[in-house]
Amino acid sequence: MSSIRLENVSKSFGATTVLKPLNLEIRSGEFLVLLGPSGCGKSTLLRLIAGLETPDSGRVFINDRDVTDKDPSSRDLAMVFQSYALYPHLTVGENLGFALKNRGDSASKIQAKVKEVGDLLDLSSLLDRKPKALSGGQRQRVALGRALTRETPVILFDEPLSNLDAHLRTQMRVKIKALHERLKNTIVYVTHDQVEATTMGDRIAVLNRGLIEQLDTPKNIYQSPVSEFIARFIGTPETCFFHSKINAQLGYAEKDQLAIRPEHVTVGSGEFAGKVLLLENLGAQTLIHIESAFGDVRALKQETGNLKVGEPIRFELNRSKLMRFDERQRETVNV
Ligand code: ADP
Ligand code: MG
Repeated sequence: MSSIRLENVSKSFGATTVLKPLNLEIRSGEFLVLLGPSGCGKSTLLRLIAGLETPDSGRVFINDRDVTDKDPSSRDLAMVFQSYALYPHLTVGENLGFALKNRGDSASKIQAKVKEVGDLLDLSSLLDRKPKALSGGQRQRVALGRALTRETPVILFDEPLSNLDAHLRTQMRVKIKALHERLKNTIVYVTHDQVEATTMGDRIAVLNRGLIEQLDTPKNIYQSPVSEFIARFIGTPETCFFHSKINAQLGYAEKDQLAIRPEHVTVGSGEFAGKVLLLENLGAQTLIHIESAFGDVRALKQETGNLKVGEPIRFELNRSKLMRFDERQRETVNV
């Protein structure tokens, strides 16, 4: 497989700086997710790797080969977009085999590969259909299949599941992840969906204000976000941020922003008092919204007992799980 390395790569469009000089190393066989809010430059970064954009500065390496000035076609990678970009006049089978035919593979080789990928993605019974006779989910599987038939060491994904409904999105998420476990291509996967990022990525690179703000495993990013922006952006249910009135009581400076994940708030007894605002049923768990002198606090619980909206409630914070963001870490807030 292939590693990818970006060295001091930057990109502006006119007066708009999209990416400041940044470095990124993607390991061979890794599933790396590029995560960030809409417009932060994810697609631009992916297109720089693909060779669809040229960086203003810096170099792009694939497997230690400097490909900065090379065409997309000579970079040995495949790309899957949000818009499926299938050939409407070709059948599913022909779409899957298109790139192989183009590069001159034999008919028998193409047929074998199309069958293999068709089986892998549950497309076998659809090979003779045209794209217009497929559902959105089926089209997306064809787009994915077309990238797989070429057997490139690198596959780039740009928000491939954004057009699917929630159920299909979850199914495809699992499918793509399972495929990666098996094929071990190097994958760079762009999304603005933090759930997609944390469930799929071996590591996540979070983009903010033209730079990679944090690059780490989903677990480390969830547990130890390096900035308030990341703590806000990653994690469901959302992190609770406290009013600074609580700081002195907890022994922190006034200028620090304190925060905690809802699973580290316990209710029933404790040092703090509030009022139940809302009980939000999340299925296996309930999110208890509490109004307090320190802002709205949320506690995640399996059992809510006989809690009622409007009633007083006491709560406690697991102090060892408090997050603290100092002035420097608060500067990157993007709200
Ligand atoms: P993302 O994929 O994270 O939503 P993009 O990389 O598509 O973000 O875009 C980042 C910024 O660059 C946006 O402000 C967008 O409008 C701008 N941009 C992207 N491509 C171009 C282009 N070809 N010309 C001018 N501006 C562009
Ligand atoms: Mg994009």
